[in-house]
Amino acid sequence: MYDPLNRIEGEKADISIRDGKVVEGVSDGATIIDASGMIVMPGGVDIHSHIAGAKVNAGRILRPEDHEKDVEKHTSITRAGTGHSIPTTYTTGYRYAKLGYTTVFEPATPLMKTRHTHEELDDTPIVDKGCFPLFGNDWHTIEYLQQGRVEECAAYIAWMLRATKGYAIKIVNPGGVEAWKWGRSLVGLDDRVPNFELTPREIIRGICKVNQLLHLPHTIHVHTNDLAKIGNYQTTIDTMDSVRGLGNENKPSIHITHVQFTGRTGSAWHNVGSGAPEIADYVNKHDHVTVDMGQIVFMNTTTMTADGAFQYMLYQLSGNKWLNSDVEVETGSGVVPYRYRRNNYVNAIQWGIGLELALLIKDPWRVYMTTDHPNGGDFTKYPKIISWLMSRKAREKSLARINRIARNKLDLPDLDREYSFSEIAVVTRAGTAKALGLKEKGHLGVGADADVAVYNIDPRKVDPSRDFRLVRKALKKAAFTIKGGRIVVKNGEMVETPMGRTYWVDSSVSEGLRSKVESDLRTTFTKYYSVQMDNYAMADSELAHSSRINVKADV
Ligand SMILES: [Zn+2]
Repeated sequence: MYDPLNRIEGEKADISIRDGKVVEGVSDGATIIDASGMIVMPGGVDIHSHIAGAKVNAGRILRPEDHEKDVEKHTSITRAGTGHSIPTTYTTGYRYAKLGYTTVFEPATPLMKTRHTHEELDDTPIVDKGCFPLFGNDWHTIEYLQQGRVEECAAYIAWMLRATKGYAIKIVNPGGVEAWKWGRSLVGLDDRVPNFELTPREIIRGICKVNQLLHLPHTIHVHTNDLAKIGNYQTTIDTMDSVRGLGNENKPSIHITHVQFTGRTGSAWHNVGSGAPEIADYVNKHDHVTVDMGQIVFMNTTTMTADGAFQYMLYQLSGNKWLNSDVEVETGSGVVPYRYRRNNYVNAIQWGIGLELALLIKDPWRVYMTTDHPNGGDFTKYPKIISWLMSRKAREKSLARINRIARNKLDLPDLDREYSFSEIAVVTRAGTAKALGLKEKGHLGVGADADVAVYNIDPRKVDPSRDFRLVRKALKKAAFTIKGGRIVVKNGEMVETPMGRTYWVDSSVSEGLRSKVESDLRTTFTKYYSVQMDNYAMADSELAHSSRINVKADV
């Protein structure tokens, strides 16, 4: 058993499960699963994967060619669907379960389109889930911050999280998406947002304070400015540093997502390099930051993000088809198909940046494995990434096939660190559950949710450094996945398909502040919105399995 939160590292142990929870002792007549010679871990917890909502669905519509070759027939247990880079909702749930994942967070939902996000999440079986509404370009948020009304901004965001049933605050290219709507772009953290007296730095700091006032379980979740631009590693470090000293120094106060896309050195496309060593050095010296990889895999995938400005740049670079969507006064998004190629110099550097980050950041509790699904590749490629993390030999095999100039420029060939199974358990479940503040996930102690993954591999007999192919094969198809105490996957096949829960956060603010903000909102909704305020907020009963987390705000 690998249960790093309870300091269990490859020990032989029993787990007892009753009524969906891990309990003490076995009762008579219990079903026994013999997992001798196998690996047992808590169910996987994905902190950042675009699986539902307006832009995901737009991506499905934009790309019939993506799914036509990957069709799942219905069975007596499962529904039909299509897969590849943007699977349909049901297929998403089944494929995660087969990997041993039981919890997934959708990391970017436009406020006004979050009802749609939840409708898709309610159609995604097995996994527990939640979503992060977008605030970094939202007019209300920026206006409150510009006027220095941080407490009202906090009450507004609390209202919005309750209205949209959101879990955490997402910030994407703060101010930059708003600028893009006016045909402008921002560089770095200190350009002024058009029509506002405010900079990205001030937006990030303001929302970080709000996050702390509201006592949200997760930190702010940030996609930085300048994503994919040459030399952007400095913006990533500046973004981390912009909130240093806000809150408790020893506790994370910012999560920077898919850092691979924002970890580039260089001054032109032909000399782009990896900024992973500089970023890892910053993370190693500062406890207030967590990151996820956003690893790419070489494949044809679909990029999608609220960062509409970036998608326009990728459309120009690639010449592929492109979709843009501005979402009223709140945010935007774009979708562009993209193929990552081994022989392409920049793509090969990107592949190296993600792995260098994971290998150079010393503390696995602060770097998590993601592909920013489907941006760097789809989530079914996780076993391949795990084999790269666990085996220098696996990396060497891939390095031999990438662009030669990129290979010579990367530090990756010299890195000999190899992750242990315990570290893999941290970067795929224990660490992510901790970062999300999900106390009953990511571990197998008494009281934990009975979400368990069993993989048919014996760590006493298999050396992951040498036998990386066996590890990859075992992780692709869990021997058992148990969700909420029910066996949902057996020998890599679905056997049951219960629906999971949707987590959302209700942060209660003082009555006076709440009614003040609600009356402000009523005015702006009437004046500027295409939707009535009363039609905007979702009722708790609109979620199939609502799981509310109550916290008390400081305002
Ligand atoms: Zn993302």
